[in-house]
Amino acid sequence: MVRDSVVRIGLVLPDVLGTYGDSGNATVLRKRLEWRGYRAEVVDLAVGETVPNSLDFYLLGGGEDRAQTLAVAHLTANPGMQEAASRGAVVLAICAGLQILGHDFTGTDGVTHRGLSLLDVRTTPGTGARAVGELLTTPDPALLQSSMTGFENHQGHTQVGPGSRALSKVVYGTGNGDGADGAYNGHVVGTYMHGPVLARNPEFADLLLGWAVGEPLAPLDIPVIEKLRDERKRAVQALATRRKRLLR
Ligand code: GLN
Repeated sequence: MVRDSVVRIGLVLPDVLGTYGDSGNATVLRKRLEWRGYRAEVVDLAVGETVPNSLDFYLLGGGEDRAQTLAVAHLTANPGMQEAASRGAVVLAICAGLQILGHDFTGTDGVTHRGLSLLDVRTTPGTGARAVGELLTTPDPALLQSSMTGFENHQGHTQVGPGSRALSKVVYGTGNGDGADGAYNGHVVGTYMHGPVLARNPEFADLLLGWAVGEPLAPLDIPVIEKLRDERKRAVQALATRRKRLLR
């Protein structure tokens, strides 16, 4: 992509999806592009509006079960994002967003809803307590070399089928509920991490941005961002160590 063209980032249904600051992912993408001399535009795609298939990047946040059901109905009737994904546009989905991208998801009311089948995943309510707290993971080394952190709050557990790969292995927290977190397939990625995840994990933001602009991006080395990321990692690692000690 030439630097003069505008990278267009769609914030998908921010009126129903986007708990725990997930919309901040759009700001992180825009700023990291601008710092490198790219032009970027964030487009809000609200419920009731047609979803364009022309954007470079689509972001879906988390949401409550009812909000999630409303969102999937709108996206099924307006398949612009799915069309864009089939030509390689980047999609990042958080929590309820991840569940929506799968084949189906069952809420705590026992009702199963059809998803968008952009990822080979299925979600059912976990039998244990709701997963609430910090999440620390080791991503698939084919994608990223350093660990990731985020905040999770969900009841659903997600199984990844052979058509997708898990995004990362859980070191601390719940994630998908089976020792992994999230899933990816080509440029479509989902995770249980709120945070917002791209503010807490700048290398992850740059990986996805590299896909969107068609070239790998060199690190920005902004000391305050790196410092915050490292502080977060150290804090979650300390939690994990303490938990291990307590449960010994
Ligand atoms: N409603 C979903 C669940 O509890 C997603 C929650 C969320 O997006 N934080 O599993």
